[in-house]
Amino acid sequence: MDFQLSEEQRMMVETASRVGERFGLDYWRAQDAKKAFPKEAWTAICEAGLSGVALPEEYGGAGLGMLDMALIIEALCGAGGGSTLAQLYMINPIFGGVALSRFGTERQKQEMLPALIRGELNFCMALTEPNAGTNSLEIRTFATADGDGWRLNGQKIWITGVPDAHKMLVVARTKKLDEIGRRTEGISLFAIDVDRDGLTHQAIEKVGTNTLASSTVFFDDVRIEPDELIGTLHQGWHALLDVLNTERIVTTSGLVGTGTLAIRLAVDYAKERRVFGDRSVASYQGIQFPLAQAHAELMCARLMNLKAADQCDKGLPYGSEANVAKLIAAQAAASATERSMQAMGGMGYSKEYHVERLWRDARLFRFAPVSEEMILNFIAMHDLGMPKSY
Ligand SMILES: Cc1cc2nc3c(=O)[nH]c(=O)nc-3n(C[C@H](O)[C@H](O)[C@H](O)COP(=O)(O)OP(=O)(O)OC[C@H]3O[C@@H](n4cnc5c(N)ncnc54)[C@H](O)[C@@H]3O)c2cc1C
Repeated sequence: MDFQLSEEQRMMVETASRVGERFGLDYWRAQDAKKAFPKEAWTAICEAGLSGVALPEEYGGAGLGMLDMALIIEALCGAGGGSTLAQLYMINPIFGGVALSRFGTERQKQEMLPALIRGELNFCMALTEPNAGTNSLEIRTFATADGDGWRLNGQKIWITGVPDAHKMLVVARTKKLDEIGRRTEGISLFAIDVDRDGLTHQAIEKVGTNTLASSTVFFDDVRIEPDELIGTLHQGWHALLDVLNTERIVTTSGLVGTGTLAIRLAVDYAKERRVFGDRSVASYQGIQFPLAQAHAELMCARLMNLKAADQCDKGLPYGSEANVAKLIAAQAAASATERSMQAMGGMGYSKEYHVERLWRDARLFRFAPVSEEMILNFIAMHDLGMPKSY
């Protein structure tokens, strides 16, 4: 067990912090207010070679691993972006990059990965449906065989980044429920163009993560070409889980970054703010303890996340570690942002001091991409050997 970062990793983290600071708190506040995709920030991240860190070298990546990517995301998010910045990694290097590099054909990889890594091709991923969220095996979006390809019909909801994406990784049924033995069978993945005929989308009004639109997506007889299938027909479920497990590591890194950032903002403010006489509010234990508690939880989540990432890179099982890390990180980041706002009083509620954005954005991750309840179900069943409760 080695807890020291290599020289190369330290340099990567420094680079990430520098890029993150170039697009710091003010940039993200402005983008949030405009509800505008953080294009300049993502371009700079890609130009600095930080997007494809875990993707293969032959397609323009750095050929390193999830551990390196986790460190970079912590630094970028902690420099000002907060947890939403991590979503850029989910939609592109994970939903696009991991799906293609692990399951794509040679032609698909050559066509899409270099452009994705350069920041010229954006992805989104469409799994959730109005009646299939937590229970994603309930999806009904269907791709019917049509000549050498398919026709796609159905509806998705809450899909991140659709208006700014070129490609959508769609999860669809390709076999009817009465033709299959298990519900995990008969699901396939496709990478289709977002601007295709029959595909329409509509933004949903929401609490936060405003720089990335969340959309309802409608498929009305959308043509899917034969070379848009990702992986094996009808066997997409297991490939999808492989992709989503890496998403968990990215989520946690973003939460560690955002929690750390919120605490730093609160500490800086509280040390200056004097309320009764000459004592700063930072001197009160009522202000200190909740921030110290959140800090302690973030440190534990971080360590567990890096372990998950390391095991992922070594080809070892990492589901339990990734789940535990995500559970604690989401709670700790929600608590860190909430208690930071509390420590700042009224100014914590103003746009000027940034914590309100971090608070709004971090709240999402207590139920997405996987909820606390489902992680606890997983721990109870897989780690503790208890019966399935649902
Ligand atoms: C801003 C945002 C962005 C998103 N981005 C994407 C995206 O890019 N792509 C995509 O496909 N999806 C995306 N999602 C969807 C997200 O993954 C789902 O919202 C999430 O999986 C929860 O599903 P649901 O909203 O349908 O909740 P539901 O499934 O309706 O669950 C409601 C509540 O019940 C709890 N619950 C359900 N079953 C159990 C059980 N057995 N035991 C205990 N508790 C249970 C859940 O944990 C949850 O708290 C996004 C969502 C949001 C809000």
